[in-house]
Amino acid sequence: MANTTGWPPLALPVDGATLVRLQGRACISCGSTEPPLIPVGHAETSSGGAVLRWAVVACPDHVGVGP
Ligand SMILES: [Zn+2]
Repeated sequence: MANTTGWPPLALPVDGATLVRLQGRACISCGSTEPPLIPVGHAETSSGGAVLRWAVVACPDHVGVGP
């Protein structure tokens, strides 16, 4: 399991490509949608002081790498 706690929160709104990554449908780092995609923890977004946590995935090349 990658350590994602050091990632800075993303500011909302995000663009569509980033949203796909936040939704766990593409690698959080490169955006690849080729399986296997591996759960790597959570990324955070902030909006108006609220923080949302998203379960994100990464391709084998980017497990352990931040966005
Ligand atoms: Zn990747």
